[in-house]
Amino acid sequence: MAQETRSFQAEVSRLLDIVAHSLYSQKQIFLRELISNASDACDRLRYAAITAPDLIADDPELGVTLIPDAEKGTLIVADNGIGMNHDELVDNLGTIARSGTAAFVQGLSGDAKKDMTLIGQFGVGFYSAFMVADRVEVVSRKAGDAEAWRWNSDGKGEFTIEPAEREGRGTTITLFMRAEDKEFLESDQLQKIVATYSNHIALPIRLVTKEKTETINSASALWMRPKSEITPDQYREFYRDVSHQFDQPWLTLHAKAEGTLEYTFLLYVPSIKPFDLFEVDRKPKVKLYVRRVYISDNVPGLMPSYFRFLQGVIDSEDLPLNISREMLQHNPTLARMRGQIVRRVIGELAKKAKDEPAEYEKFWDSLGVVLKEGIYEDFENRDLIVPLVRVRSTAAAGWTSLDDYVERMRPGQNAIYFISGDNPDTLAKSPQIEGFRAKGVEVVLMTDPVDEFWLPALGEYKKHPFQSVTRGAPDLGKVETPEEKPDADKPEAKTADIADLIALFKVTLGEAVRDVRVSERLTHSPVCLVADKEDMDLHIERLLRQNRRVMGETKRILELNAAHPLITRLNQLAGRAGAATELEDFAWLLFDQARLLEGEALPDPAAFANRLSALLEKGLA
Ligand code: ADP
Ligand code: MG
Repeated sequence: MAQETRSFQAEVSRLLDIVAHSLYSQKQIFLRELISNASDACDRLRYAAITAPDLIADDPELGVTLIPDAEKGTLIVADNGIGMNHDELVDNLGTIARSGTAAFVQGLSGDAKKDMTLIGQFGVGFYSAFMVADRVEVVSRKAGDAEAWRWNSDGKGEFTIEPAEREGRGTTITLFMRAEDKEFLESDQLQKIVATYSNHIALPIRLVTKEKTETINSASALWMRPKSEITPDQYREFYRDVSHQFDQPWLTLHAKAEGTLEYTFLLYVPSIKPFDLFEVDRKPKVKLYVRRVYISDNVPGLMPSYFRFLQGVIDSEDLPLNISREMLQHNPTLARMRGQIVRRVIGELAKKAKDEPAEYEKFWDSLGVVLKEGIYEDFENRDLIVPLVRVRSTAAAGWTSLDDYVERMRPGQNAIYFISGDNPDTLAKSPQIEGFRAKGVEVVLMTDPVDEFWLPALGEYKKHPFQSVTRGAPDLGKVETPEEKPDADKPEAKTADIADLIALFKVTLGEAVRDVRVSERLTHSPVCLVADKEDMDLHIERLLRQNRRVMGETKRILELNAAHPLITRLNQLAGRAGAATELEDFAWLLFDQARLLEGEALPDPAAFANRLSALLEKGLA
């Protein structure tokens, strides 16, 4: 087969263009990326060799070799891992496979400075080689294959691929260093970079010079070393390597279990929201090792999906090596190990929440939304997860816990009241909560779509049922009125009997509403809409409608504030003969106003506008 020339995928070309012209000051990370790939390749070979020992038998000592050559101006990074065949070279080094890198390219703004910081956040994997090299050659031979392939590119739109020779399996990457980057050919520099970025790699990294060959890393799995011997920097570099995230982890959890089950885990909670948190598969990312052999970062059931933000490794001493990923998921040992680790992580979160509440809130801000899924997905640990939940409420500015809510409940109050919508500030101004404010009763403001799942799943907390303030009757009668009214400016109008007006509204609005009644929950606003006790709450129906999960609209109850001057005045007018036609517009306008406050679209905006204009005109006459 002769030489073929191929074009890079458009996104790769864009990426390479940025990388090649980057003023990124930390160019040395290219070495971390190449070593990390070499280490992944060795991990994958070890896993494949469990079922096909021949793949590894002729050359069982896995490792990475660095060969700088100042005369030729080249740096070689070689490994004897799994290698790549022709198609894998084309796919892996010609397209963007990793979603993190894809997100990086999407995030590119064209503004060099901003894009530079993005490189720092995402890392660009193999392509970072072009930060320091003006040409890169990759010779690779896949384990088990007889032939090898050479991939060659100057990073300018195209690469070539042709048959090559390589002794044994693995990958040899030769970087033809740019004139200004020759410092990376100095042994001292290479040693320093490996010590900083790659010391945690579990394989030996050998530096080969004319004088000698030496191993320049500790070459043992970081998680197996005693905690006291690991520096914060090493923990952080390992985090970067496993997660491809470049933030400071919010929490690092490193522990060993030595009971009936034996395993070690090194897990991290990130400090930022990972970009793929809401991808449909909701896949956990923790990597499974069995006695230091990498198995997979995709073992179903290793971690629950509400922990999909966790990064790191779990290394089991008990699991069988020779078992497929699919079988693993039904393995009782795995299930027990998972149970223990999940409870341990929850315990650590609880400890943070108690000891460092401000720090905990940072976690909640970015990842709480995922943790809440655990309430309806992990029945076993539900009682441990619920106290970790933080919510917005009318009582306090920041986050609050349900325990704090319960503590603040008014004498006579039994339910935990909530209102749901899109935005806490808008919700706090909803007419439906006016009466609750007047009674000093706190209302929880629910703004995550996932709240619509866990609240009904949970039903109650500490024997207090959750109750929507926009559904059913509020039953505030039993709640003691505070002596000092928090709502000092409450209009002191007496509640009037507005039976006439209610009858008139019912006739006018007819089938458009389920009912019209006197409100117990309004103090300032004249009207509001609520759902009947048996009906779907307003907000959730809107959500479902947006997703086309329900069609049509449930009829709502229009409540009137019998203490509001507008309502009492209308009631006086309603008693007169012929009032019905005269007041018809008022009924529709107030109903539409209530719908607007709910964030509902009006079914007939033109009719609304006409009525409003007519009324304004009358007001001016
Ligand atoms: P990532 O490592 O995150 O997948 P990279 O850009 O670093 O992204 O590498 C792209 C892909 O190229 C890898 O996923 C792997 O399949 C392949 N690859 C890179 N280097 C090697 C290597 N030394 N041996 C085998 N495969 C490799
Ligand atoms: Mg990589």
